[in-house]
Amino acid sequence: FDDRDGWIWIDGKIVPWREANVHVLTHAMHYASSVFEGQRAYGGVIFKLSEHSARLRRSAELLGFDIPWSVEEIDAACNEVIKANGFVDAYVRPVAWRGSEQMGVSPKGTKPHLAIAAWEWGKYFAPEIAAKGLRLDIAPWRRPAPYTAPVHSKAAGLYMIASLSKKHADERGYDDALMFDWRGQVAEATGANAFFVRDSKLYTPTPDCFLDGITRRTVMDLARRRGVEVIEKAIWPEELERFEQMFITGSAAEVTFIQSAGPWNFEIGELSRQLCQDYDDLVNGRLVNA
Ligand code: PMP
Repeated sequence: FDDRDGWIWIDGKIVPWREANVHVLTHAMHYASSVFEGQRAYGGVIFKLSEHSARLRRSAELLGFDIPWSVEEIDAACNEVIKANGFVDAYVRPVAWRGSEQMGVSPKGTKPHLAIAAWEWGKYFAPEIAAKGLRLDIAPWRRPAPYTAPVHSKAAGLYMIASLSKKHADERGYDDALMFDWRGQVAEATGANAFFVRDSKLYTPTPDCFLDGITRRTVMDLARRRGVEVIEKAIWPEELERFEQMFITGSAAEVTFIQSAGPWNFEIGELSRQLCQDYDDLVNGRLVNA
């Protein structure tokens, strides 16, 4: 992914794609002191941009470092990147990390860095697979407890679990994986939040050990606008067989239908379809902001 044309913003400058490099002795690479974001531009407008920039700063704070750019400055840099690359519909990836100023577990003496890349990334899941609903594996790894890791930070370190679960799912022929948490409660997919439907009501796990996604909150608002009751609660695997529909949400994944998660099967029902359509309308400016 490093050998291509394009422009990347790094520490305040726009540089050619191939030159946006870091040293091998970067603190982040050895000790996972890195946080990132992911957002999409639709028709040249980045959806909920400031919320992503604010979360990036918060994620870094949870890892004990400050990003030396304000939300407004990060927003402007993201816009500059899509413009420099001439993108209209794109995925934007800001990443902030502790640099290579010193080597050792202690982060003391390292400097915070920020880079923003963007590329044209169609659907996260192949449309023909997403249309039928994904088949989810049950992840062999669990989301850690809030006393084990900074679970509300979009920290690269937490993606070790997601990435291993995704690899495990790929190898077994699944499209993605559903992760449980350390208590055994239903948590989320490897890069998206989980929703369920029963008796026309929407259910989603309480985000007490994983990201309270920006898409998640958007979809909850869209459901309420339709007069749908939204229930946020602890969900145990035993309950999964009583849910009729399931979908996952994320800035990259958008609203994606689920056909099955391990032994549990779901249908693609009306409410899932409506919310998928509402989200598409909203991000494309066909619905006033939810
Ligand atoms: N959980 C995980 C693990 C994710 O990677 C993402 C994507 N950022 C989400 C949830 C959904 O977050 P958002 O809707 O803010 O993109």
